[in-house]
Amino acid sequence: MRYATGGTVLACRMALDSGLAINLAGGYHHAASDRGEGFCAYADIPIAAAALHAEGRVERVLVVDLDAHQGNGIAATIRPWPWASILDVYEDDLYPNPKEPEDYPIPIAWDITGPEYLETVDVALANALDAVRPDLVIYNAGSDPYFEDPLTNLGLSRNDLADRDLMVATHVRERGIPLAMVLSGGYARESWRIHTDGIEAILARFDRAAVGEPTSR
Ligand SMILES: [Zn+2]
Repeated sequence: MRYATGGTVLACRMALDSGLAINLAGGYHHAASDRGEGFCAYADIPIAAAALHAEGRVERVLVVDLDAHQGNGIAATIRPWPWASILDVYEDDLYPNPKEPEDYPIPIAWDITGPEYLETVDVALANALDAVRPDLVIYNAGSDPYFEDPLTNLGLSRNDLADRDLMVATHVRERGIPLAMVLSGGYARESWRIHTDGIEAILARFDRAAVGEPTSR
């Protein structure tokens, strides 16, 4: 997990340089600055955001957490930081309880349909991006909203989740905002396929553009 935390820091640096970077690990969103819990030892996303903010490379950071569980550790860690915000779409009746206060919390019911979920993410993400106007988005792309995931009750399909990941990348990159993605939770036998689908869809659309359009930072 320490190496993966370094990977999240590196992904954020690479995103600022090239527009898009993906850490094939990380997203330990239940860990806070003073504690670990829920399979999470290090608060990799806040660590990465704080490092780049301290260096003056970012002024405003938006975390987009679409893992099925609430990112309580991220929320608790960044709450004192006026420059960092979190949009979090999570299954309401699920660990952790109680939930942490957040900037943009979107609790959803277990029986939400795929189209309803994608519409919810679409609207909430556009609103949060326009409100925060971040210069870096860190996307926690948990695959555990999958219908066969044993730790959650949501019913999304492989295609729904690939569509979701591509939607997030499209919103962020079309606004010219650097995007760092981390994988977070997923506990089904097919979880790796879900991440593969999403990453392949993102790279097919954005990899060449990301390399060809370095930011000025
Ligand atoms: Zn999760």
